[in-house]
Amino acid sequence: MPSPAYHAPDTIEQAVALLAGDAGARPLSGGTDLIVQMRSGRTAPSSLVDLKRIAGMKGIRASPDGGFAIGAATPCTALKDDKALSAAWPGVVEAANLIGSVQVRNRATMAGNLCNASPAADSVPALVAAGATCLVAGPSGTREVPVEEIPAAPGRTSLQPGEFVAEIRLPAQKGSDAYLRSIPRTEMDIAVVGAGVSLVVDANGTCTAARVSIGAVAPTVLLVEDAGAALVGSKFDDAALDRMAEAVRAACKPIADKRGTVEYRTAMAGVLAKRVVKIALERAGVSA
Ligand SMILES: Cc1cc2nc3c(=O)[nH]c(=O)nc-3n(C[C@H](O)[C@H](O)[C@H](O)COP(=O)(O)OP(=O)(O)OC[C@H]3O[C@@H](n4cnc5c(N)ncnc54)[C@H](O)[C@@H]3O)c2cc1C
Repeated sequence: MPSPAYHAPDTIEQAVALLAGDAGARPLSGGTDLIVQMRSGRTAPSSLVDLKRIAGMKGIRASPDGGFAIGAATPCTALKDDKALSAAWPGVVEAANLIGSVQVRNRATMAGNLCNASPAADSVPALVAAGATCLVAGPSGTREVPVEEIPAAPGRTSLQPGEFVAEIRLPAQKGSDAYLRSIPRTEMDIAVVGAGVSLVVDANGTCTAARVSIGAVAPTVLLVEDAGAALVGSKFDDAALDRMAEAVRAACKPIADKRGTVEYRTAMAGVLAKRVVKIALERAGVSA
C-alpha cells in the first residue's frame, strides 16, 4: 500500500484548505472503509485529512430546537452511550450499531458510512427516514444538505472538491423510528435489503407524517415518498400497509448477486418495510 501524506488539522478551515489543495486528498473519519480499500488497492489517496482532532467533530450535542448535532467523527458506539439520543432516535442508533463488530463500531462513523456511498450502508436508511441533514463544510463556507442527497452513485457522493461532512443533524423527535436489515448471517455482513421508517401518530392513532427509506435495493439509498404518503391519514390498517409495501416494491431497482435475486430483494423490501412500521408503532405506544 503506498503511503499517503497524513494531516490532522485542528480547524474546519485547515481541513477544507488541505482537501481543496490536493485533488487526491480524502477525508478520514474512522478509516474502517478507507483503510481497507487502500490495502486492497481499490483507492490510493495522495493524502489523508484526519477529521478527528477538529473541535466539535467528536461528540453529540442537543440542539436548542430539541434535535441533535452529531460531529462527523463520532464513533457509532458513542451514539449508543448517549441516553437522550437513544431515547429520541432508537432506529438511527440501532442502525449505526449494526455496523461490523464492537471493534469496528469503536472507529466507524455515520458520516463515513454515508460518504462511502454504499447502497447497503446501514445507518443511511435510518438517517433518511429520520429527515436528517448534513452540515457540509467547503471552500464557500457551510451548507445544509438532506442526507439522501449526499450519495450520488455506488462509491460516489455529490460533495464538491474541498467539501466534507462536518456534522449530521437530527430534527426534534415528534414520533418514533425503526430500522431493520436482512443479512444471510447473524452479524458482520452487509445488508441484502434494509428499511427505515419514521412515523408521527396523533392521539387517535392516525398517522400524520411518515418517511420510509430503503437500502441495498437501488444504486443509492432511497426515500420512498409514495410509501410514506400511503400511511398518512391511515390508522395503519392492512390496506394502508399493503399500499405502503407496494410503493416500496415499485421503487426497488436492485441488482442480483450471490446474496439475493432481484425478486427476493424486491419482495423482502416490502416485508421489511411493514415490519419496521410495526416496530415504530410499538415504540409510539400504538398497537397495529
Ligand atoms: C469488518 C467490517 C464490517 C463492516 N460491517 C458493516 C455493516 O454491517 N454495515 C455497514 O453499513 N458497513 C459496514 N462496514 C463498513 C464501514 O465500517 C462503515 O461504512 C463505516 O460506517 C465507515 O465509517 P468510517 O468513519 O470508518 O469511514 P472512513 O473509512 O473514514 O471513510 C469512508 C469514506 O468516506 C469518506 N469520508 C469519511 N468521513 C467523511 C466526512 N466527514 N466527509 C466526507 N467524506 C468522508 C472517506 O474519504 C472514505 O471515502 C464494515 C467494515 C468492516 C471493516
